[in-house]
Amino acid sequence: MTHRIINFSAGPAVLPLEVLEEAQRDLVDYQGAGLSVMEMSHRSPHYDAIHTDAIASLRSLMGIGDDHAVLFLQGGASLQFSMVPMNLMHPAGKADYILTGTWSKKALKEASKEGRARIAGSSEETGFDRIPEASELDLDGEADYLHFTTNNTIVGTQWPSEPDAGDVPLVADMSSDILSRPIDVGRYGLIYAGAQKNLGPAGVTLVIVRKDLLARAPESLPTMLTYRIHADKNSLYNTPPCWSIYVVGLACQWLERRGGLEAMAQRNAAKAAKLYDLIDGSDFYRGTVQIASRSPMNIPFRLPSEELESRFLEASVEAGMTNLKGHRSVGGIRASIYNAMPAEGVDRLAELMWEFERAHG
Ligand SMILES: *Cc1c(COP(=O)(O)O)cnc(C)c1O
Repeated sequence: MTHRIINFSAGPAVLPLEVLEEAQRDLVDYQGAGLSVMEMSHRSPHYDAIHTDAIASLRSLMGIGDDHAVLFLQGGASLQFSMVPMNLMHPAGKADYILTGTWSKKALKEASKEGRARIAGSSEETGFDRIPEASELDLDGEADYLHFTTNNTIVGTQWPSEPDAGDVPLVADMSSDILSRPIDVGRYGLIYAGAQKNLGPAGVTLVIVRKDLLARAPESLPTMLTYRIHADKNSLYNTPPCWSIYVVGLACQWLERRGGLEAMAQRNAAKAAKLYDLIDGSDFYRGTVQIASRSPMNIPFRLPSEELESRFLEASVEAGMTNLKGHRSVGGIRASIYNAMPAEGVDRLAELMWEFERAHG
């Protein structure tokens, strides 16, 4: 038996074992081709099928219609912080940003270098412990787009539904909850996500963009930073991250076999409820964000002291778990339980939490 640790990493994160085994089986000789996906031309028929199938799976899982292009880019979600304003702000344009954590602040910072980026809502005053209410938002109906972060990986909050921006295109960083629940893609101008949390391995970034927005990019923009070029070339303008796209395709097929996004959302909700119920029923563990804003993907919590938190982390390692330490900017404990985290992994964590509370509470 292969030794597999229970991995609560926020990213790069756990992948489904079936996906890893499939990639392993086909690693040296991809389906009789006599070479691996890492070694084949990105213009070969074998790779063409991998690329086409991965896009088709994403389209079918997410219900992406013909109005949107699906792109596989590089540079991580962080490059999208720049590419979004470079492509979507009209020359000297303006955009609204809602601040719900570190990642949205970074997105705002990059957008400010390209045009007038304005804060249209923020929960920074209370340490990003919640998603702002609709009534608190100050939206500019003339903005080129409204940017928000659907799931805040570090603090552990998630938008229950998207903000209503009227005719202003919605742009969302979905790096840590893409494919975790059904969404109405038709409501978005652009969605982006680094793959390494809930899609597949690092190295590829998914961008879903409404085709009519592609015309906005100025001709002076560098080719590699222009969505329009990548869309025209079906993400094959240059060598794409073939291996990462291949594994994203396998992860999509795994999701399809497991009933798609509706079924996945139910499983994710059940896993999260297990931990949140335990936290709410305990005087020992304490949740750090407001209940209505809680993320089902990243679950942060505190123990009565930092000393106990270190001992909890030691106990988790002894129990075969890893990566439960909270982000260095917030401390405490964080369990990231994306699609690929099996329910048994969450059960094991819950058992450890009960035992630890009994011993130290
Ligand atoms: C991890 C993360 C990022 C950064 O992703 P990179 O691919 O490392 O650039 C951006 N936004 C969110 C919400 C994230 O969780």
